[in-house]
Amino acid sequence: MLTVEGLRSRYGRIEVLHGLDLEVSSGEIVTVVGANGAGKTTLLKCLSGTQPVSDGSIVFRGESFATVPAHKRLKRGLAQSPEGRQIFTNLTVEENLRLGAFLFTDERVDRDMADAFAMFPILKEKRNLAAGGLSGGQQQMLAIARALMGRPHCLLLDEPSMGLAPLLVAQIFEVVKSLKERDVTVLLVEQNAYGALKIADRGYVMETGRITMTGAAPDLIADPRIREAYLGL
Ligand code: ATP
Repeated sequence: MLTVEGLRSRYGRIEVLHGLDLEVSSGEIVTVVGANGAGKTTLLKCLSGTQPVSDGSIVFRGESFATVPAHKRLKRGLAQSPEGRQIFTNLTVEENLRLGAFLFTDERVDRDMADAFAMFPILKEKRNLAAGGLSGGQQQMLAIARALMGRPHCLLLDEPSMGLAPLLVAQIFEVVKSLKERDVTVLLVEQNAYGALKIADRGYVMETGRITMTGAAPDLIADPRIREAYLGL
């Protein structure tokens, strides 16, 4: 579904991605784990088209994204739920969800909304309240639900567990795992390596702009280097 080859990106003169190769197949949950500052967010921004690529290629569902601007990437089926959630706090929960469906005018939007409410009953309860009044975990659920309203084939998730209490972290990871049943392919970027690898099929370890390890998620969890550096085990 998604093939990244030799991806380089820079902020001004400073290169922060030094030639990444990465592959996500249809139906997979793939995670990229790495410390703060490794370049995970920059990678996702390159994929969603909000950060310039200086070299390399991104191919999504057989199409090169080199000349596809950010706003058209969602139409092609690639959606991002950004770091820090970035929901519209002054709008209601329902309005936020409708914005996620801005590409569509058909009656399926109401069905998608019912689906989102079935997935996150708390959002249904609070559908008419301002999103800014939701707890951190609920805002994260809203951000994921909003991205799903765009009917993506592949969802990019940037640190969905960030800043959440452990119980909510577990709940969010369960939600991400359940996306598989909805035929949504997931690329999940996380500092919480253990939580992410537990639900992923495969993983990549990123260090200062390079992929340093890759493999099946259970193998990575069992790897002594990962256990020591990322899992604190
Ligand atoms: P985090 O978990 O903190 O988001 P990350 O792995 O996502 O970390 P990035 O945010 O992609 O890492 O940052 C990678 C590198 O690029 C870091 O050294 C960071 O300081 C730098 N960087 C990020 N954004 C900018 C920017 N707008 N201008 C200049 N440098 C930046």
